[in-house]
Amino acid sequence: MSPPPNLPLSIVIPVYNEALNLPTLFARLYPVLDALGRRYEVIFTNDGSHDGSIGLLQAQHAARPDVTRVIDFNANYGQHMAIMAAFERVRGDVIVTLDADLQNPPEEIPKLLEKMAAGHDYVGGYRLHRQDSWFRTYASKVINFVREQTTSIEMTDQGCMLRAYARPVIDAIVRSGAINTFIPALAYSYASHPAEVGVKHEERHAGVSNYSFYALIRLNFDLITGFSLAPLQYFTMFAGLCSAGSLLLVLVLAYRRLFLGAEAEGIFTLFGILFFLLSVTMVGIGLIGEYVGRTYQVVRARQRYFVKEILETTP
Ligand code: UDP
Ligand code: MG
Repeated sequence: MSPPPNLPLSIVIPVYNEALNLPTLFARLYPVLDALGRRYEVIFTNDGSHDGSIGLLQAQHAARPDVTRVIDFNANYGQHMAIMAAFERVRGDVIVTLDADLQNPPEEIPKLLEKMAAGHDYVGGYRLHRQDSWFRTYASKVINFVREQTTSIEMTDQGCMLRAYARPVIDAIVRSGAINTFIPALAYSYASHPAEVGVKHEERHAGVSNYSFYALIRLNFDLITGFSLAPLQYFTMFAGLCSAGSLLLVLVLAYRRLFLGAEAEGIFTLFGILFFLLSVTMVGIGLIGEYVGRTYQVVRARQRYFVKEILETTP
């Protein structure tokens, strides 16, 4: 478990193939932090990059060893696991997460800290004038709506990683040992006095998003199934309605067979109904599989990530 907090501020940044962005990130981030006039550390997790990001991180550690720590994964475990590894090692009592691609301007960090100083234990940023593709922006709106219907998590913008957390919230996240998780939502469920603040959002400084369409779907499945059983419950209700409907149909057909005799009309309608019910069953199996899979991952308790090396100076 992490040592007791002895620093006012920890900045956590996951890095996956961000070599083109890191120099600008360093140039913009460190002056903002230096200007705060408080002790801090920046923890970068290199999430299995293969573009030379690790070389840049090592150089930055050599340049600012007092305030820079680097966790180097042996492979790619995803953004949330990269953040989790840093959370397990933070030394600060206020922790701020942000992306390495400069979509979250480091200059906005003081805004979050101000809110934290006002007594909140979790401050979530929401992106003002989001600079993402049309598709990403609208897909987010849909998933926001689904999340509101299925979980009790209230967030204006779940996708914004510029967020500040108090140490007890981070400790609770670490203790949860979550595997496929969505950190902002997990933090929300542990916070007692959360707040939100609007933050600027910029276009990716260089490169393209690391999230494929498939990865985005996976992430959002994690958000819904990781925080609620509502999909299973809604499905059961829907399946109940379907079986009531089918029972009615069977009764009508039995009546016709008995009183009107054998008939072949309506056979395609019957097929239509049959295929529909079959697809409902398949969705149900998939949904159950999703939860069983999550349970399996937790139960087998395999090590969630492997750290190749940690660059840090002991305080
Ligand atoms: N990231 C990571 N591991 C991954 C994917 C992304 O550590 O497997 C990092 C990435 O380097 C960046 C942040 O997570 O700092 C957000 O990723 P990205 O910008 O690709 O996502 P988007 O902004 O498109 O949601
Ligand atoms: Mg990005």
